[in-house]
Amino acid sequence: MPLETKLPKVGTTIFTVMSQLAAEHGAVNLGQGFPDFAVPQRLVDELDRAMREGHNQYAPMTGVLPLRQAIAGKVLRCYGRQVNPDTEITVTSGATEALFNAIHAVVRPGEEVIVLDPAYDSYEPAIELAGARAIHVALDPRSFAVDWDKIRAAITPRTRLLIINSPHNPSGAMLDETDMKALAEILRDTGIFLISDEVYEHIVFDGRRHESVLRYPELAERAFVVSSFGKTYHCTGWKIGYAIAPPALSAEFRKVHQYNVFCTFAPAQHAFAAMIRDEPEHYEQLGAFYQEKRDRFRAQLLETRLKPLPVPGGYFQLVDYSAVSDLPDTEFVRWLTIEHGVTAIPLSPFYENAPADQRLARLCFAKNAATLDAAIERLKKL
Ligand code: PMP
Ligand code: GLN
Repeated sequence: MPLETKLPKVGTTIFTVMSQLAAEHGAVNLGQGFPDFAVPQRLVDELDRAMREGHNQYAPMTGVLPLRQAIAGKVLRCYGRQVNPDTEITVTSGATEALFNAIHAVVRPGEEVIVLDPAYDSYEPAIELAGARAIHVALDPRSFAVDWDKIRAAITPRTRLLIINSPHNPSGAMLDETDMKALAEILRDTGIFLISDEVYEHIVFDGRRHESVLRYPELAERAFVVSSFGKTYHCTGWKIGYAIAPPALSAEFRKVHQYNVFCTFAPAQHAFAAMIRDEPEHYEQLGAFYQEKRDRFRAQLLETRLKPLPVPGGYFQLVDYSAVSDLPDTEFVRWLTIEHGVTAIPLSPFYENAPADQRLARLCFAKNAATLDAAIERLKKL
């Protein structure tokens, strides 16, 4: 029976494509974003304990209470906002599920959702499945700063939702206080909801402050703030995240979550509850931990012909490869993998219309020194 696809623009994600190519060619994989070092031992012990203690059946739909309480405590400490664990926090199967739920909770067919290009790849398919349209507004091609006048100009009576992401994937750019104030002013007196994708919230450098939407009451009252333990605890494969939203928004979010997955992996929820409660140093020191990796990697890149761009946050390093090659980015990263044994992620898949002359690739530095050293040895030969 012929089937007309609901997602004509979607193929296999660039992260999977590049990881497969890296494996085929034995390349050092700095493409797909995942750490190659161990999760904290305490977390493994707590997971083991949770399973042995019998936390192996369905968790409550919203997430286990100790974890929701621990998240509320962390949010109060970090951002000064009191959120109610019963009515405002929902634990999800990764940030991806939270983003999907939030979009489906508020967006109706025919409506518009503003996304900032380059944008994480899961936003648009979720918007399209809701029968809505993604309206792409480009960030500055060099600094990846938001031009708020462009956002204002993109708003129409059909605009239902805006999605922001700071620290930003793929660039690492961060929104500052001026951005947040501009955003608040634009959304004031509109019915537009906000998703703030903050999965890299604890990976910030050089003493900068992460401007969580949770610090801004006027924004928080219309927002779903999404985060992921995969990034904070080096366990992208566990797929646990959460969304924080005011009670009325959380209620709609939970209607989707309830029939999407119902609940998420119970033992890990107990393990994260213990980690957050008993070892706040882990997330407090995450910025310093990654800053050391960033600085070392950037210093090494100066010995290659790749030019590193600034990295305020996150665990990705953008490099300008124009001194090495004039190939378009998707061809360049294939060539780099096959001919030079290092895998990167191109930027064009993050765009509706990537700038034609952009020669940037993304390298993940959430890796052991030995992995980064091996990549650098190969990159020096370019
Ligand atoms: N948003 C951004 C910006 C991401 O980079 C990622 C994953 N790397 C996600 C969402 C998805 O997070 P998760 O793996 O927890 O689903
Ligand atoms: N978010 C990760 C990245 O940007 C990849 C996630 C995935 O593979 N779906 O690299």
